Amino acid sequence: MKTLLRAIEKAWGLSRRGRKLSILIYHRVLPEPDPMRPAEPDARLFDNQMEILAQHTRVLPLPEAVARLQAGALPPRATAVTFDDGYADNHLHALPILRRHGLPATFFIATGYLNGGRMFNDTVIEAVRRAPGETLDLRDRGLGYHRLDGVEERRGAAESIIRAIKYLTPQVRDASIEDLTERIGVPLPDDLMMTDGQVRGLCDAGMTVGAHTVSHPILAQVDEKQARWEIGESAERLRSLCGVPVESFAYPNGKPGRDYTDRDRALLRRAGFRLAVSTSPGAAGHGWDPFQLPRFTPWDRAPWRFLTRLALNSGHDGVLARSGQ
Ligand SMILES: [Zn+2]
Repeated sequence: MKTLLRAIEKAWGLSRRGRKLSILIYHRVLPEPDPMRPAEPDARLFDNQMEILAQHTRVLPLPEAVARLQAGALPPRATAVTFDDGYADNHLHALPILRRHGLPATFFIATGYLNGGRMFNDTVIEAVRRAPGETLDLRDRGLGYHRLDGVEERRGAAESIIRAIKYLTPQVRDASIEDLTERIGVPLPDDLMMTDGQVRGLCDAGMTVGAHTVSHPILAQVDEKQARWEIGESAERLRSLCGVPVESFAYPNGKPGRDYTDRDRALLRRAGFRLAVSTSPGAAGHGWDPFQLPRFTPWDRAPWRFLTRLALNSGHDGVLARSGQ
């Protein structure tokens, strides 16, 4: 296995794609696998992935990686690790693993959910997980009729409700969520997101924090005043928590052209940010727009597949985005 991984590393480093920056995106690191969240890694898988990155890539702090990319001084097989949203498990489970491997990471935090908040998608998942009965009828809300008689059914129900409400205006979305939680009527967890102290703990450990807005709106759907506030307020809150300027940003939802626009890139520049990441797959080459850097995480469990997919992804230019486009 070691020989195979070294061979993949060598081939990647020698190819042109080995000169690009691969930014990995994570949200959660669960203490153990959760059938309601099959896409989220557990601590063991995350540990294995960090081991591969530490052994076979050059993991850099994201701001340094982007500065070196812009200067044309990126080392071969450069990678950066990022997390979105601000989940408490980032501090509880990811941080000790990162420290053990000596790896830096950047945490993009939606500041409005710190200290007991809950994002709407988690409210749906946790409510549907705990809902009594074997069916959930939300047809009067336009959210369908769902079977709940097995974990697969519950996962499917939560996914379908999230899909249906994701792009509603925040007011309509929040009304639907409130209605859902009232109908289900069970207590939901309030410790999913980090506390102020946990954010400070990340900074004290030498990690980078970046802004991810206050309330996680789709920026393309809010007016300029609101977008400016979401961006500036989240950066200011993190600056006051960690005592350092916040220069990195992740667009909520992050699909180029759909979830953020040129206006938002301009707002970030004016607010003093130096880089922003999207959720478009691919890897960034020299001359890339630092305000829409692509991100990608391989889903493979086998180490050689994980490393191969990471190398192959760095051959993609993503949807865009050279400077000036
Ligand atoms: Zn997010």
